[in-house]
Amino acid sequence: MNAETRNVVVVGGGPAGLTASIYAGRFGLSPLVLEPGFPGGKLSLIDRIENYPGFPGGIAGAELAERLAEQAREYGAQFQAVAADAIRQEGTLIQVATADGEVAARTLIVASGATPQRLGVPGEREFLGRGVSYCATCDGPFFRDKDIAVVGGGDSAVEEALCLTRFARSVTVIHRRDRLRASEVLQRRAFAHPRIGFRYSAEVIAVEGGDQVEGIRLRDQQGESFLPAGGVFIYVGITPVTGFLGDQVDRDGRGHLRASENTATSLPGLFAAGDVRGKPLRQVVTAVADGAVAAMAADRYLTGN
Ligand code: NAP
Repeated sequence: MNAETRNVVVVGGGPAGLTASIYAGRFGLSPLVLEPGFPGGKLSLIDRIENYPGFPGGIAGAELAERLAEQAREYGAQFQAVAADAIRQEGTLIQVATADGEVAARTLIVASGATPQRLGVPGEREFLGRGVSYCATCDGPFFRDKDIAVVGGGDSAVEEALCLTRFARSVTVIHRRDRLRASEVLQRRAFAHPRIGFRYSAEVIAVEGGDQVEGIRLRDQQGESFLPAGGVFIYVGITPVTGFLGDQVDRDGRGHLRASENTATSLPGLFAAGDVRGKPLRQVVTAVADGAVAAMAADRYLTGN
């Protein structure tokens, strides 16, 4: 598969990459999707998406992901279960290095998404898998009847706190400021939930325990305190996955790829879609929109070249 030059290689099989593949497939460009995990990416881990248009009552993230992947295959997308490790420009081509060898791409759509940001406190790394988690949907069932701490004040923290109430005895959201950043609808639901509590203006300074997490050490205006918790779920933002690009593509101040309205980046032939790029709204609906635009831009670039 790797010997030939591909019109479009898509890095990442989340909603942005899958939609780019659907559109590129329909343009007749036979896209190749490099995705080391399962198609859908983070979307597959979202319990229920309630704000994706056309699905009143919501749709399970895994179901939407599977439908997108099926639709991409329907239009001729091929999937390779491997990560992009590096890229290099060679004339008008972009060579993508993978563990399976190099793939030559006339255009590259980077839809590699973002990974959870670490809090960076003592104990966080040590207790990973022993009470510290970044995925409520994956790990929530292991915390049945426990008291759980969720760190963060954005959409992810509040959404996942709500998800955790299905298993936990109690959920305490710890936020460093005096008000949440999450959307109104999520806030209202969380405030109304009898098993969700909040600690504001509190900084997590350590995760502590023995074999397993036993709680977190907090600092606020009253000083330091210990909050007992059988699990700690951390949602303090996301970091774009761009390491494989080296310094060949411009980033913004937060490390996201700088891309124009039509997803073009500073590297000719390389387009950026979804959470990896700088943009004002990070939702499935904007990821899929980026994917569609990136495929169109790639098609025009190929026609122009
Ligand atoms: P986010 O919106 O960047 O929020 C991160 C939260 O973590 C903020 O409340 C921030 O505090 C806090 N934080 C950051 N660094 C911290 C630190 N070192 N210590 C303690 N707290 C820290 O990230 P997100 O919630 O993961 O969401 C990412 C994007 O996906 C957002 O654009 C979001 O809207 C979107 N999203 C949407 C949905 C949905 O629509 N249902 C669901 C999930 C995510 P401050 O508030 O003080 O900055």
